[in-house]
Amino acid sequence: MKLAIMGAMPEEIEPFLKFFKDYKTFDYAKNKYFIVEHKNNEIIIAYSKIGKVNSTITASVMIEKFGCEKLIFSGVAGAVCNSFKIGDLVAATKLVQHDLDISSFGHPYGYVPEGAVYEEADLELIEIAKKVAIEKNINLKYGVIATGDQFICDIKRKNWIANTFNATALEMEGASVAVTCNAYGVPFFILRAISDEANMDAKFNFDEFLETSSQRSADFILSMVEKIANA
Ligand code: SAH
Repeated sequence: MKLAIMGAMPEEIEPFLKFFKDYKTFDYAKNKYFIVEHKNNEIIIAYSKIGKVNSTITASVMIEKFGCEKLIFSGVAGAVCNSFKIGDLVAATKLVQHDLDISSFGHPYGYVPEGAVYEEADLELIEIAKKVAIEKNINLKYGVIATGDQFICDIKRKNWIANTFNATALEMEGASVAVTCNAYGVPFFILRAISDEANMDAKFNFDEFLETSSQRSADFILSMVEKIANA
C-alpha cells in the first residue's frame, strides 16, 4: 500500500522523518517528497507549504505522481470551540472553506456550484483513530474543521466561523486537501493538535506550541500508521 503523510510546515513532518530515519528524497514541482519503505508499504512524506493552493498541489502530486491510496494530514490548528485547549487533538469529521464566499448570489458560505459546503473524512480511518485513542488513553476530539487562507487571531472572525459552520478548529490546509482527496476518491484523515485559540494571543501561542503540538499529532498518526500497515 502507498500511504501519504502530509503537513504544511517543516515542523509538522520533522517528527516523522526523525522516526523513520531512512528515506529517499525526491524533488518534484518545487517541493521535496521523502520516501520511506515500511513493512511492505511505501510511505510518502511531504510538507506542502502553508495555505490552500500549496496543499492542493502537494495532495495532487501525492495521488497523481506517487499513486498514494490513502492520505493522512498531521499538523496544528487554532481552537474555535471553547472546550478545546492547547495540546488537544482534533480529528476532522468534515471540513469547510470558511473564506469561500459567493453569498452575494444567494449561495451559502463555503459553497460553489457543483461543490459541497462540507467535505467528509473517511469513516474507516476515523474508526482506526478511535481505536488508537482508546489504546493510548487519549481524549481525542472530533468535529468540523474550517480552512481558509488567513491566520485567524481575532475573536470576531473566530466566532463568525464557529457559528456559521459549527466549526471546532481552524487552520489553512485541511479543506483543500479534503476536496482534492474526495475528487480522486482517495480516503483521507486530518488530525490537528491545537497550537493556539485563534485570539489576540494566537501568534505568541502558535510560536510557543508549534513544535510540541506537531509532535503530539505525529505521535498519534504514527500509531495509526502501525495499524494501517499491519492491516
Ligand atoms: N509562523 C509561520 C506562519 C504560520 S501560519 C511563519 O511565519 O511562516 C499558521 C499555520 O498553522 C498554518 O499552516 C495553519 O494551518 C495552522 N494554524 C494554526 N493556528 C492557526 C490559526 N489561528 N489560524 C489559521 N491557521 C492556523
